Amino acid sequence: MNVILLGPPGAGKGTQSKFLEDDFGLKQLSTGDMLRAELASGSNLGMQAKAIMDSGKLVSDEIVISMIAENIDHPGCAKGVIFDGFPRTVAQAQALDDMLHGKGKKHPVVIELRVDEKILVDRIRMRIEQAKASGTPLRADDNEETLLKRLAVYKEQTAPIIPYYEAKKMLHVIDGMAPIDEVRTQIRRNLGF
Ligand code: AMP
Repeated sequence: MNVILLGPPGAGKGTQSKFLEDDFGLKQLSTGDMLRAELASGSNLGMQAKAIMDSGKLVSDEIVISMIAENIDHPGCAKGVIFDGFPRTVAQAQALDDMLHGKGKKHPVVIELRVDEKILVDRIRMRIEQAKASGTPLRADDNEETLLKRLAVYKEQTAPIIPYYEAKKMLHVIDGMAPIDEVRTQIRRNLGF
């Protein structure tokens, strides 16, 4: 079983991915985490991606598609994967369709965590303030300016994926503003459990 979690930054994709790993033995493939790992390793790719990530824009389709292609056949992915933060453009969604089809894998279950943008912005602002107050290190893109940019990029470049999957009758919409455990239950239900 492969699952795509869609939703803007702060919608809870990372949290729910961890639950899906625990509940079903799936493997989370987060392109954001992969890019941050590249950066931490000091690779050329990481250095190139840093400025783009810090500004809240998207790195090229080519880079993220090849990162997914490199990881999807790992033994840890045998039970299936959760795509977290990928695809983020219609071109990425098409490339993923082709990749899964070419490998003879089933269609993924696409789950959109739908959230109210205003509440989301307040929630993320609060998270940033709490992290600052407690001295927890923040990601370079965890600031209000970048957050607003990331939301604008989501609306412009990522939201068009929603009608793309809707047209293919693959989309399941869940209320991402519900309590975390309720969202977890709803996701399980939409996966048929
Ligand atoms: P995330 O941790 O998923 O919020 O990703 C952090 C940043 O990494 C994003 O703001 C983008 O700059 C970059 N990124 C992550 N995934 C993708 C993707 N699928 N396509 C393009 N850029 C991405």
